[in-house]
This record gives sequence, C-alpha cells and structure tokens, in this order.
Amino acid sequence: MDFAYDTRTEQLRAELMEFLEQHVHPAEAVHAAQVAAAGDPWARPPVLAELKAEARRRGLWNLFLPDPRHGAGLTNLQYAPLAELTGRSPHLAPEALNCAAPDTGNMELLAEFGSPAQQERWLAPLLSGEIRSAFCMTEPEVASSDATNIATSIRRDGDHYVIDGRKWWSSGAMDPACEIFIVMGKTDPDADRHKQQSMILVPRDTPGVTVRRGLTVFGYSDAPHGGHAEIDFDGVRVPAENLVGVEGAGFAIAQARLGPGRIHHCMRLIGMAERALELLCRRTTERVAFGRPLAEQGVIREWIAESRVRIEQARLLVLKTAWLMDTVGNKGAHTEIQAIKIATPAMAEWVIDKAIQAHGGAGVSQDTPLAALWSQARTLRLADGPDEVHRSSLAKRELRRWAASA
Ligand SMILES: Cc1cc2nc3c(=O)[nH]c(=O)nc-3n(C[C@H](O)[C@H](O)[C@H](O)COP(=O)(O)OP(=O)(O)OC[C@H]3O[C@@H](n4cnc5c(N)ncnc54)[C@H](O)[C@@H]3O)c2cc1C
Repeated sequence: MDFAYDTRTEQLRAELMEFLEQHVHPAEAVHAAQVAAAGDPWARPPVLAELKAEARRRGLWNLFLPDPRHGAGLTNLQYAPLAELTGRSPHLAPEALNCAAPDTGNMELLAEFGSPAQQERWLAPLLSGEIRSAFCMTEPEVASSDATNIATSIRRDGDHYVIDGRKWWSSGAMDPACEIFIVMGKTDPDADRHKQQSMILVPRDTPGVTVRRGLTVFGYSDAPHGGHAEIDFDGVRVPAENLVGVEGAGFAIAQARLGPGRIHHCMRLIGMAERALELLCRRTTERVAFGRPLAEQGVIREWIAESRVRIEQARLLVLKTAWLMDTVGNKGAHTEIQAIKIATPAMAEWVIDKAIQAHGGAGVSQDTPLAALWSQARTLRLADGPDEVHRSSLAKRELRRWAASA
C-alpha cells in the first residue's frame, strides 16, 4: 500500500499552498473589512472577484470536478489533499477556486443529469464562476432529515410546472450572484415513497419567488459560503423543460449529489482541524502562565497529541473513502462516506474546541479564526444529514450483513 500522493497531486499542492499563502490568507482580514464597510452581511466584497481571477489565471480552478470535459479531471484521491488545504481558510479558499458548496454539488448534478440546454444555460456560467446557485430541499415545516417528508408541490400544467412551498437553509441564496435554484418537491404524492420527488430549475427572478430572509449560524452570516436563505415559492411557473431528469427521479438525484458533497466537506474539515492545531501550538508555545509556557502544561500536551492522533485517523479514513469512490463508485463507498460524515465533523469540533480553550478569551473573539471554524464544524454535524441519521442507516446496513449470514 502506497501512502504517498502522486506527482500531479504534489505539484498542485505546492501551487495551491503558494496561492493560499500569498493571496487567500492575507485576504481574510480584507474580506472582513469589506463586508463590514458594505453594511450588508451577505454583500459580495470585491476581494472575492480578485481572488477568483488570480486562481483561474493560475489554473487552480474547478479542481473538484472529476469529469475532464467540465473540470480538472482529478480523481477524488487527488482532490482530497487539495480540498484539505482549502479548509484552512474555509470561508474564502473554496469559493476562490470555484470549489465551494453548494455550487460544487449543483455543478456535478447538472453535469450528470442536466439536459444539453440546461448545461449550456446554467452549468457553463457556474463553471466559469460568473453566477452561483442554491440547492433547495430542506423545509421549515417538515423533518427534512427524512427527505421523503418534503412537501413542496411541483404540479404539471400544460407545458409548464407550477411550484408551491417554502424552503429554508438554501445555502448561497443570499449571495446576489446566486441566479439559479435547484428545487426538490413532489410531482406525485401517491407514487412509491422514493419516486414521489422531482428536481426542477427555478431562476431566481421568476415571479412568485421571494427570498424572505437570511439565516445566521450561531450569529454568523456564514457568507460567502453560506448565506442560508428562507425562500417562498408561490405559484411559481417554469417551463416543463426545466425539470432535471424525469419525474420521480428527484430522490435518487439527491442521493447521488450528496456523496461527493459529503466527502468534500470532510476533506475541508481536516484542513480546518490542522489550522486549529497549528494555532494551538503557536499560542501555547508563546504564552506564559504560572511561570512556564502553556505548552509545557501536561493537559495542553495531551490536547496536542490527541489532536494529532484524531486528525491523522480521520485523514486516513477520508483518503480511503476517496480511493473507494474512485475504484468502486459512490455506491460501493456508501458505508465509508457515512463513516467519515459521522467521524470528521466531530473530530474537527473537538480539536477546534481545544484550540479555543487554549487561547482563553481570544479564542471566542473575532481576533482569531477559531470561533468561525468551530461554528462551521458544528453545523456539519447537521448539514448534509444529521449524525444520528447516518449512524442509524450505517447500523442498519451492518445488521443486514449479519442477518443475511445468520
Ligand atoms: C449550515 C447549514 C447549511 C445547510 N445547507 C442546506 C442546503 O444548502 N440545502 C438544503 O436543502 N438544506 C440545507 N441544510 C439543511 C440540513 O440538511 C438539515 O437541517 C438537516 O437535513 C436536518 O433536517 P432538519 O433541520 O429538518 O432536522 P429534523 O429532520 O427535524 O431533525 C432534527 C433532529 O432529529 C434527530 N433525528 C432525525 N432523524 C433521526 C433518526 N433516524 N434517529 C435519531 N435521531 C434522529 C437528529 O438529531 C436531528 O438533528 C443546511 C443546514 C445547515 C445547518
């Protein structure tokens, strides 16, 4: 078993590290200042466009997309260490590289299931980073961790569909550049449980679409990655050709979309944990309490050692999962995708929490990235499926294996 990254990955890692150090990390403070000056937490600060232009010029663009017709053509195993590096600056780096959720999942969805006309109209501007997109599945009125509960209706009316419902947590939709919503709803409530749902493309400016408000995450706007919106769809009419795939395919498409999205989050979480550990080590080496550097206290050393062990464990599992997705497909890697979705946010949350503690009051303030990193790690125990749902489903499959052999 060879644990080394291949030559292309190493080369891209070096190029990406240089870009992050020279451009992205220094832009974090600029971004915060520009957002504050705009007076709108979801405004689109100019520094983002500058970062995107520079990343594109350097060829660090659409690295997430394995299909060489649309993206960089990297395998999941090649992309994993690159996404990890972007996790060190999770609010800026992924978007700078056009590798940010939810656009990545939406681009994958359009690349795999979109018609040629849908790809030309929406995938092309997404790939070039001109526009952004949102994925609208979750609803305030129903327990959406069970996607069969989704109640928004998509009703055929001649050569149109009419959409009625309310969504929330539509990430990205508060961004003024977000022009297209992929909406999941029911076209046939009487069909088999997993065949009732369909996906449809709704341009933001369609009459009947109202973006009601932005949801904060522990008080953060979560922009530019987030910008999570609550949206009303009230008698929204779109042409029938806006349906993605066929009627009844929505649930299966949603499942296909979530596999790569989950591993991308986990890859970035490892980078987030690495950044927290670096800050933890730097701070405790410099800061003296009770006559010696904090790093010489046993408890701090224990946190540092335990953090390294946990990060390494999670990274190996994520890399194995990436390798499985490349070799046996997303379906074959189902158990491992669920395992990393359970293990990695919890690992990152633990490591970041220790870094916060070691920073004292500074750790919860705006003066370090730790508080924002923690909030993101914490939300990833909910987003893309809560821990409990993944555990329950993983356990069901494990039990089935033994039941079959009994
Ligand atoms: C930051 C963020 C970004 C998001 N982005 C998007 C997005 O872009 N698009 C989108 O459509 N949605 C998005 N979501 C929504 C997210 O996917 C849902 O919040 C999640 O699926 C849970 O659904 P729910 O909130 O309706 O919780 P519910 O379904 O009401 O579940 C509540 C809790 O019940 C428990 N529970 C549920 N099922 C079980 C079970 N089988 N066993 C044990 N316990 C269980 C869990 O603890 C769960 O957290 C986002 C959420 C967050 C926080």
